[in-house]
Amino acid sequence: MVDESSMSALTSSAYQQALEVIAAVEPRVAEATRQELADQRGSLKLIASENYASPAVLLTMGTWFSDKYAEGTVGHRFYAACQNVDTVEALAAEHARELFGAPYAYVQPHSGIDANLVAFWSILAHRVEGPWLAKAAAKNVNDLTEADWEELRKELGNQRLLGMSLDAGGHLTHGFRPNISGKMFHQQQYGTDPATGLVDYDAVRAKAREFKPLVLVAGYSAYPRRINFATMREIADEVGATLMVDMAHFSGLVAGKVFTGDEDPVPHAHIVTSTTHKSLRGPRGGIVLATEELAPSVDRGCPMVLGGPMAHVMAAKAVAFAEARRPEFRTYAQQVADNAQSLAQGFLSRGASLVTGGTDNHLVLLDVSGFGLTGRQAESALLDAGIVTNRNAIPADPNGPWYTSGIRLGTPALTTRGFGHDEFDRVAELIVHVLQNAQPGTTSTGAVSKASYSVAEGVADKVRDASAEMLEKHPLYPGLDLA
Ligand code: PLP
Repeated sequence: MVDESSMSALTSSAYQQALEVIAAVEPRVAEATRQELADQRGSLKLIASENYASPAVLLTMGTWFSDKYAEGTVGHRFYAACQNVDTVEALAAEHARELFGAPYAYVQPHSGIDANLVAFWSILAHRVEGPWLAKAAAKNVNDLTEADWEELRKELGNQRLLGMSLDAGGHLTHGFRPNISGKMFHQQQYGTDPATGLVDYDAVRAKAREFKPLVLVAGYSAYPRRINFATMREIADEVGATLMVDMAHFSGLVAGKVFTGDEDPVPHAHIVTSTTHKSLRGPRGGIVLATEELAPSVDRGCPMVLGGPMAHVMAAKAVAFAEARRPEFRTYAQQVADNAQSLAQGFLSRGASLVTGGTDNHLVLLDVSGFGLTGRQAESALLDAGIVTNRNAIPADPNGPWYTSGIRLGTPALTTRGFGHDEFDRVAELIVHVLQNAQPGTTSTGAVSKASYSVAEGVADKVRDASAEMLEKHPLYPGLDLA
């Protein structure tokens, strides 16, 4: 076992040498890579979907596994010499099954959107194509005639999906028009209760009874509360739908056992998708967890909708999942949720307004209309002060999805740096200070602008200095020295 200071020295020398090798070919890439570290070290990263992966995870991605093609599945490849890819893919899948208590894990998806595509097509293959093949007395798709294909295309293209609406916090892959899920399915959306901002399960049930979807999607990108997946499963069962849960945002809280029982999607859903790089703190990528029944169709993800598996990323997933199985990860996940409470209380005690009035997961959604700003203006004003957030629509947003009226803030990244209650309370104070001192600009016709803004002189610098103190106390990759 290498102790912490030797590990820092090893990490420093690994990166210094790697950057020298890169600089010998394209120095501007090496320079941008150094600068990215400096920028991330020097700003308050509150983007709810971002984190800081460990050096072990990052280093795993920079190897010759990147050079291997390995279409197929473990032990059943369409390429030769995949024995080491088999090792890392099997390890990543085993860790994922153990971590989440899932019967089956597919670790090939390249991202969260890809994981969702795999899930959609597996559900269609299992629920529509399978029975259809049986009806057509065909063993597999290779037996179909062109006329059969015509019929099958009609069947596949006539299915229904019910997901959470974008302005209630759903993701665009949950049936929203600009995404293929909103084009390939007949889709409808459920929102949240206008009075409380919370999911109204009776309303979801009523919509499901009326619409009768094949797929019921639960999960979110910007909903600051937990979901009762047992109730969602009851609703799905009542209407004969497949329950798909997209836990891209909160999988770290599931892995860290903050979400258990009815709040853990894995025992309740037929199929669960996730990213691996948000609260789960792994490499950029996706996974699909499924019941044994759905596993064979999920395994067809590549080449159904995915390009060749990225062995270097699957290896890094194995490393990240091994980290997430350690007891320290549970402490981390609990701290992520506790810190979100501190952040929310910090805002509420200073008179700011939060969608749903608070949080019980890893994110808060700040309604910035009370400051007289759009989300876009707030996002830009905060960035000037070194605070990185992203604008986000709020339910029934009068400013639409581009300008928005909200700012989404998450705690996973700064919790990784070691921020606790006091720091998050201070972060809320700094954000409120910036927003109170920001003003919308005017357009060329003299109307109030939704984009331009100004911040009172000296405020951004003062906030940067205050943040720098906290950031220095909690360095990113402590001991990693690129000098
Ligand atoms: N699903 C949800 C709920 C998300 O929030 C996101 C990303 O923000 C995704 C899927 C897509 O993930 P990726 O960007 O890795 O494709």
